[in-house]
Amino acid sequence: MKSSFYQYTLPELQELFALNGLPSSGPGLMFNWHYKKRKTEPCVIDLAKKSIAFVDQNFSFDLPQLDTVHESQDKTVKFLFKFKDDQKVETVLIPFNGKYTICISSQVGCAMKCSFCHTGTQGLKRHLSTEEIIGQFLEAQRWLTKNRPDDDRILNIVFMGQGEPLHNFDAVKKACEIFLTQHGLSLAPHKITISTAGYLPGLQRWKAEMPKVNIAVSLHSVIKEKRDKLIPINQRYPVEDVMKFAEEIPEGRTRFVTYEYLMIKNFNDSDEDAHITGRALQGKNVYISLIPFNPFPGTEYERPEMHEVDHFKSILDTYKIPTLIRKTKGDEILAACGQLHSGKKA
Ligand code: SAH
Repeated sequence: MKSSFYQYTLPELQELFALNGLPSSGPGLMFNWHYKKRKTEPCVIDLAKKSIAFVDQNFSFDLPQLDTVHESQDKTVKFLFKFKDDQKVETVLIPFNGKYTICISSQVGCAMKCSFCHTGTQGLKRHLSTEEIIGQFLEAQRWLTKNRPDDDRILNIVFMGQGEPLHNFDAVKKACEIFLTQHGLSLAPHKITISTAGYLPGLQRWKAEMPKVNIAVSLHSVIKEKRDKLIPINQRYPVEDVMKFAEEIPEGRTRFVTYEYLMIKNFNDSDEDAHITGRALQGKNVYISLIPFNPFPGTEYERPEMHEVDHFKSILDTYKIPTLIRKTKGDEILAACGQLHSGKKA
């Protein structure tokens, strides 16, 4: 059985080549060919003859199949990708100044069951493999180059699509290592952000194992009863522990934790909520990203008015916590935060 080339980190490929007595230059050349030069056919130019034969016998270069593409007025693009077993995930390209952030999925569905999230309603179908994570990036990049050749640069990767990335730690970790590899895509670590609902077993492993990418935590409330209702794993992994481990991750003065705060009308958007959050986070090396709730079919929650979001931010400002309001993009095609789902078309 052939295995996917895209599942290998560079050191893994080097080990495989060494084990098979192949020239050590091969793996670097392959990374350059497939990731930097973005070729999807096997590399036959620079590799030694016996390496070419080995690659031909052992590797496949299949990428996820593009099922549907939706483009919104604001240039957001939502892809539905289909894998070999017919499972599907969504991936989103979010534009800013002629460049893009890609929002990648890490699982088909999600086991976290957050009450405000469309993906959570479908439950966990399965984890994605490293090559399925990498494949979303490569295929989205290919689509961009073909369809928008004048502005086809993907600058940032965020693991904020379907799934809880830290629940699929090993595959996500390997995918990050591949994204960062110098011979390949060569992204800088601060260009990648992993967002977690507060999956403590993953946060506990992060510091020792994860490459130095950015951490974002879905906070949404520091009040236990409220967070329990929004993010059920809060009952098992208390927010104090989550914050403690998360805040130990960033190194150096320029790195910080981003706390995402989803704002739901009449639930966690009061002045009191803002003050409690402000008191809990003041003086820490953190950012807050305020996300107005994006509705989806069947939800019990509502989105606050923009002036209410602005007001909430003005209270956080008094605690001197840097706060950004995340602009909603792609909502007309159900591509905004929390609206992704494998089964429905927009
Ligand atoms: N499982 C990870 C990553 C996926 S969600 C996590 O929980 O962080 C990415 C971000 O979108 C999270 O901050 C999540 O809370 C937010 N989100 C989920 N549903 C949303 C919705 N309906 N409206 C706005 N943001 C939502």
